[in-house]
Amino acid sequence: MKASDSKWSRSASSPNGAETGLAEARYAASLPDGRVRCTLCPHACRLKEGEAGFCGVRLNRHAKITLPFYGAASALALDPIEKKPLYHYFPGRQVYSVGFLGCPLRCPFCQNYRISQSTTAATQRISPAELVRQAAGAGGVGIAYTYNEPVIHFEFVMDSAELAHKAGLQNVLVTSGQINEEPAKEMFDAMHAVNIDLKSFDARFYRNELAGSLTAVKRSIEIAVQRCHVEITTLVIPGKTDSAAEIESIARFLASLNAEIPYHLSAYYPAYRSVTRATEPATIHRLADVARKHLHYVYSGNIADGNSTRCRRCGALLVSRSRTGARAAGLRNGNCAACGHPSPIITA
Ligand code: SF4
Repeated sequence: MKASDSKWSRSASSPNGAETGLAEARYAASLPDGRVRCTLCPHACRLKEGEAGFCGVRLNRHAKITLPFYGAASALALDPIEKKPLYHYFPGRQVYSVGFLGCPLRCPFCQNYRISQSTTAATQRISPAELVRQAAGAGGVGIAYTYNEPVIHFEFVMDSAELAHKAGLQNVLVTSGQINEEPAKEMFDAMHAVNIDLKSFDARFYRNELAGSLTAVKRSIEIAVQRCHVEITTLVIPGKTDSAAEIESIARFLASLNAEIPYHLSAYYPAYRSVTRATEPATIHRLADVARKHLHYVYSGNIADGNSTRCRRCGALLVSRSRTGARAAGLRNGNCAACGHPSPIITA
């Protein structure tokens, strides 16, 4: 398979104020009572003058939603693309990764809570043009918007993605999928590949424990699979998201969209406010077998496991993965080198 090179067809976006930090938000509506409603994510915050949204980074200033954190990067690093995780997309390559601050979720087990649950952590201001310059010089396949939740930085991501696309770079998004339908369509149109966290298949768990919406993330997945390469991750938390019935429901849902969607079952470790014991590797293996009843490619994350990809026709090794990296030695022109069967792996 080949990455689409015709992803970008929309006209140039409006310039945003990376230098001033006073860029104006899109997906905002004025209300008769003087407040402003943000229509970017399901929280639908109604903000009084001077008030920030639930995510912490979108602020009503002078009856407009402004973006004081536009281009405020909390992290910039060249990562293996497998770390996102993306297993069927440029295996063995690296991607220049940028993170910001804030989140529309309140996961008590967040591994990145120092930046996701903070608006005061250290940042460095970067413009979309500078980000693209750095990414182009880093030698990876493109830019990954990751670490915290990038959709709440919609304007910066879209401005950067457009420039990156023009520079011949790939755009990769790692997201919880907490975004409304219209901006989701726009954002996934701008991406080449996304990994979406589907944290549970229980709407009450999403609402009560994460402050999120299962409906929104399911709809985001449906929208994304129409537009770009998609992989899905579920963090398996003992006693919370480790039931076979729940994982089978997720696998069935994904298979109804495309049984070739790579599905990552990731082992949990205690973090932030969560002290539940870590997930046993045996649990991940057992649940992976459940998911494989419906999906062709199921992988184990956060445990010592090779997680290779094999040809579905002849069983030959297509991509081997280990702690030291990934090698796509079994591919030739995107097909299985042994039998010629088309592979699901995007390499060019
Ligand atoms: S993006 Fe932020 S401000 Fe907008 S609705 Fe979501 S949480 Fe509220």
